[in-house]
Amino acid sequence: MRGFQGNNRFPVLPVISRVLREHYLLLALGLLLSILLSLCLLDGSPILPNLSLLVISPLLLLNILFACFFSVYVRQKSLREQRRLYDIVCRITENGSEAFFPTLVIQLGDFLGADYVHVGRFADPRGDILKTLAVCRDGQLEDPAEVEVAGAPCVKVFEGVCWSAGRGLRHRFPDSALVADLRAVSYMGHPLRDATGEVVGVIAAFGRRHLKHGRRAMVLMAFLAQQASAELERSRVQQAMERMAYYDPLTEMSNWRFFRERLVSTLAKSQQSSQPFGLIFLDVDRFKNVNQSFGHEAGDVLLRLFAERLASTLDDQAIISRKGGDRFFVLLPHLLAVADVRMVAQRLLAMLRDPFEVQGREVYLSISVGIVTCPADGATIATLLAHADAAMHRAKELGGGRIERYVPAMGVASSARLGMERALREALKKGEFLLHYQPQYQLKTERIVGDEGLLHDRLSSCLVGAESLIRWRHPERGLVLPMEFIPLAEEAGLIEEIGAWVLEAACCQLQSWRQWFGPDFKMSVNLSARQLYDPLLVDRITSTLTANGLRPEDLCLEITESCLMGSVQESQQQLQRLRSLGVDISIDDFGTGYSSLSYLRRFPVTALKIDRSFVQDIGGHADHQAIVKSIIALAEVLKLEVIAEGVETEQQLSCLYAAGCRTVQGYLLGRPMAAQDFATLLLNVHCDNQSDRYSLVG
Ligand code: C2E
Ligand code: MG
Ligand code: MG
Repeated sequence: MRGFQGNNRFPVLPVISRVLREHYLLLALGLLLSILLSLCLLDGSPILPNLSLLVISPLLLLNILFACFFSVYVRQKSLREQRRLYDIVCRITENGSEAFFPTLVIQLGDFLGADYVHVGRFADPRGDILKTLAVCRDGQLEDPAEVEVAGAPCVKVFEGVCWSAGRGLRHRFPDSALVADLRAVSYMGHPLRDATGEVVGVIAAFGRRHLKHGRRAMVLMAFLAQQASAELERSRVQQAMERMAYYDPLTEMSNWRFFRERLVSTLAKSQQSSQPFGLIFLDVDRFKNVNQSFGHEAGDVLLRLFAERLASTLDDQAIISRKGGDRFFVLLPHLLAVADVRMVAQRLLAMLRDPFEVQGREVYLSISVGIVTCPADGATIATLLAHADAAMHRAKELGGGRIERYVPAMGVASSARLGMERALREALKKGEFLLHYQPQYQLKTERIVGDEGLLHDRLSSCLVGAESLIRWRHPERGLVLPMEFIPLAEEAGLIEEIGAWVLEAACCQLQSWRQWFGPDFKMSVNLSARQLYDPLLVDRITSTLTANGLRPEDLCLEITESCLMGSVQESQQQLQRLRSLGVDISIDDFGTGYSSLSYLRRFPVTALKIDRSFVQDIGGHADHQAIVKSIIALAEVLKLEVIAEGVETEQQLSCLYAAGCRTVQGYLLGRPMAAQDFATLLLNVHCDNQSDRYSLVG
């Protein structure tokens, strides 16, 4: 860097020439004074007129010498000040961005002889609060703080370029806490502007005495304000670039790159300190439905709302990142116990009990959550991520809206999934799917006289319907149950095609059995969420029923509670269309899905199917008995039919009957069976007219 290093020899000729150039007025004045003085001295003197020359010459010489020294003095002073300014500027600009503002306030305070200097930017868009970036009070740096702008001298600064004030400051700004606190009598400030010229902050100095260096101080202030503005702009751009590099623009959460870096450092720390940490991977269930029903823009809004809710549910230490689409990772760097991860995951499920509002419509979401902990479930980033992924997929396979912790068997499952998907596509082409049918019975009692002449209440059952349940005749694995492939078919986008096949096959089968039954026999078909929102569903059902000569009342569609997650209005509309058609709709696995019962009133369903888990415990578990009773009571109020599924014992059957349930389905009465077995059953029922088997002593 070039500094102010001059030549040591005194530059005589340049000085004289500069004196003549710059101080000719001073010289002319001195010359005139010398002539006047000599004329006065010699006026009327008998001495030779040459004498006047003798007097004038030394005076003139003295005059020239004085002018020279004066010029040199002024020049040296100016050079000193320039050198000081140059040093100040160098000291400030040489510093990195972190020390830039602190150095600026110290140096500026020193130059101006100010007691307090601060530089700050507006904390809010309206410019009411100034957030200081550096503060120097009595030569010492202070912690940055927030200063109220209203009533402070800086409001004058924002009006123009540079503004300074001397005495009377306290009277002019009686509301300024800073002026009062400092007992300031002088002030100088300059606005900071962004690239568009908008005022974004201020640099200001306060003094208990007058600030030094007047005009030069203003020049320095203006220069430093320009530098500070540039520094602010630079840091703004840098922050924006960092944001772009590390943040997800849609949700404003950290992106995958940032998350991965934090994961690496958390793993390293965990390995040093043996402190466990947790990882949660979550995926919004059936988010494609939302995009399909509302459009992608609304889908983005919903994702943002979801991300906000996610962030507000977790504490500050949790690091959340969107892994693209509707998938999110949560890193829990500080765990006290492994069970903590599950508790956090449960909070995430609970946060979705309330709906979101998109385009004025209510939307319910559910998530599938996979959890892992380190070191228990993996010691490298790759294994932890793969295991979290496997656990999340398992949660999805089990119907979504649930939490799964990684277990080693899942690893195998996840690699097998790809092969399964290929095989599923083949299965559709090769016609490897088939339907089994499980009978559904209506219960009633009749009073009979027993052998001993005592009256008995006999519980009899009457076949009223069948539920079609899909199976896959796998060439190597044999008969595969739906839970193993339906979730995968949903994910792979094959469910619409499979569902259409099921509907066609079930209706065709019902039509061929028609001759055996009265008009009350119904065929139930399970629908997956994606099918429910298929815009072609209503037309497809209509044409299938017509093609098979069936009435809409012959068909019952079973949907699970989680199918109704998503847009409330959309679900209502679709169910309304189906109801208008005349088909029945029952809520399958009722009680396991989402606990808000308020939606039941709003959806036009005709029946509730009490989930197997409640039925199985009905005899032993008081809670489950109470739940079953309240479901039945609720159904009565809403005028809905109730079907209990999974009835395996006579005790369960009588408990259900006592609780008021009249329609049942379960292994006790009939397992799901192939079409020809079901035909045999029908034949028997048709011949006996009733199947009376169960008796309750009355
Ligand atoms: P789901 O609709 O709740 O069907 C009842 C399930 O419970 C059937 O399992 C049935 O075999 C089983 N089950 C019935 N009675 C008993 C019992 O007394 N004890 C026990 N332990 N289990 C009983 P499955 O056939 O494995 O079907 C499982 C699920 O797969 C079904 O649950 C349904 O959600 C889905 N699913 C089946 N077929 C289809 C289909 O065609 N399309 C769609 N989308 N899903 C289907
Ligand atoms: Mg079902
Ligand atoms: Mg069920």
